[in-house]
Amino acid sequence: MNQTITADTIWQALQNVKDPEIPVVSVVEMGIVRAVSVSDEGVVVIKMTPTFSGCPALHVIQREIEAQVKALGVNLVTVETTFNPPWTSDWITDEAREKLRQFGLAPPPKHGGNLISVAALDVAACPRCNSTNTILKNGFGPTLCRMIWYCHDCQDAFEQFKPL
Ligand SMILES: [Zn+2]
Repeated sequence: MNQTITADTIWQALQNVKDPEIPVVSVVEMGIVRAVSVSDEGVVVIKMTPTFSGCPALHVIQREIEAQVKALGVNLVTVETTFNPPWTSDWITDEAREKLRQFGLAPPPKHGGNLISVAALDVAACPRCNSTNTILKNGFGPTLCRMIWYCHDCQDAFEQFKPL
């Protein structure tokens, strides 16, 4: 057992676990990893909250988290899944929002728990030209977590990560 393993070390290592749907961001940046604890005996427990039930492959993420922690020399690691409180797109970090934009995916607006106001008022900015001269084309994109918008300036469609 490596005695220098701390929760900080593990948080760092988990930056290597990417979101299977969006490989430019990690499960830490997406707010999927909620808690990391290391007991005095060196047992690691990680709590994660998956995003959309139909989206990233839960078991793939779990396996990759375990692999990253074991690579640090930890023998006993448990990955617990919790849905309470449910995942919200507000947990996505600002750095990750910028990475989503560069990936060509408009980041979800922050809603502070009030999704109705977001749906009524918010307009997605085009990730290519930053124009807000856009219109929602389809609330159901290629996956459950994406919406399709159309940018009048680019005259092309783009996807937005759905606020949740
Ligand atoms: Zn545009």
